[in-house]
Amino acid sequence: MFWLRSIILYFFIAVIAFAISAFTDILWGFVFALVMLSITICYHLINLNRLNQWLKHPDVDTVPGSMMLWQDVFDQLYEQVRSQKKSKDRLANTLDRFLSAAEALPDGVVILDEYDRIEWCNPASQIHLGLNRKTDSGQQITNLLRHPALREYLKEQDFSHPVTLRTMRPQEQVLSVQMIPFDSTRKLLLSRDITQLDRVQTVHRDFVANVSHELRTPLTVVGGFIETMIDMPHIDAPTREQHMQLMYEQTQRMQRLVDDLLTLSKLENGQQLKEEEVDIPQLLQLLRIEAEGLSQGRHSISIESIARQRLIGNHDELHSALGNLVSNAVRYTPAGGQIMLSWQMRGDEACFVVKDTGIGIAPEHVPRLTERFYRVDRGRSRNTGGTGLGLAIVKHILHRHQAVMAVESRLGEGSEFAVKFPTQRVLE
Ligand code: ADP
Repeated sequence: MFWLRSIILYFFIAVIAFAISAFTDILWGFVFALVMLSITICYHLINLNRLNQWLKHPDVDTVPGSMMLWQDVFDQLYEQVRSQKKSKDRLANTLDRFLSAAEALPDGVVILDEYDRIEWCNPASQIHLGLNRKTDSGQQITNLLRHPALREYLKEQDFSHPVTLRTMRPQEQVLSVQMIPFDSTRKLLLSRDITQLDRVQTVHRDFVANVSHELRTPLTVVGGFIETMIDMPHIDAPTREQHMQLMYEQTQRMQRLVDDLLTLSKLENGQQLKEEEVDIPQLLQLLRIEAEGLSQGRHSISIESIARQRLIGNHDELHSALGNLVSNAVRYTPAGGQIMLSWQMRGDEACFVVKDTGIGIAPEHVPRLTERFYRVDRGRSRNTGGTGLGLAIVKHILHRHQAVMAVESRLGEGSEFAVKFPTQRVLE
């Protein structure tokens, strides 16, 4: 098309020049052809200059316009520049989105060049690795890291596994850091905060160790007696009786431990709370009767005050939690002591309170009482049939009822365990 139009134009000029030559003089034909050629050369030169000027600042809005052949050229140029601008905008948009996503990641990301210099890093990496985006960009990462384990990891160049870093200041933090090579020369340094996960793993490890430890003692005792009986089959009846009694006590202890573990595991499964209306005065009477059974007349047990209320919650769970507090009061109060149960309003909140005049708890132990297997006095807890899991179970159950427990205690004077229930659970 381009050539055809050009040829037609020059063909017409030639035809007209011939016609002028034929009708007038050959000189006029020649002059006409020369003038026309000069005009087309000027036209080309002007448009070439406009193209040249535009190329210095190419912008889709300033593409020049023209006539005839050059209009075609400029139109095509406009189309191309416009589609280029569109795809550039699209790319810039995508890149922006990627950058925003990388910035928002909770994991730290650092992009390193082939010489381990920082090209880019996100805010999380600044917190994890103590980097500064503005000043550290372009610096070699090994010069900036304070953690010896991480420097060692980068030096060894074995990136098949992550390295775990533990820091204590400003707060306790455990990080998992891994280098991932990409793009043949560049590398990604990823850091993840695994403090929570590490804590859970430690709790889990401690828990398994504690359970094993708790089971080992009764198992050793029972195993020892059985061994004695095998070795000495003709043991006298009273000794045999005594051994049997001790074995029974130990198996009871294991039974209690397994029961408490099962209760904890059930609570942790997070099944939905089956709610019902629990009659408070009735529950308190039940707790008192049970406490008297446990005390065997060694304590004076009273119910101080009962507001006639009902509580929305699970009867069995509440019975188990509050019963645990009451049984602790009995177990940790020497004979002759007093135990008071009450359901009272403290401010706006309804409270179950159990008060004893027992051995009390030193203040440093109070915050840890609800930890699993935490006991102030191991021997006393065991002798009174404790598993060390009672208050951990209480904590779980209260949490399921959005209730909170407050402990007030003085060593040698007694303790008060108060459970506050949210007002929306209490019915008049
Ligand atoms: P345990 O089975 O050992 O009683 P708990 O979880 O019920 O376990 O209680 C944890 C620890 O809290 C007990 O070992 C005991 O030292 C302390 N404790 C709980 N209740 C009382 C109380 N009323 N008076 C004194 N100490 C208590």
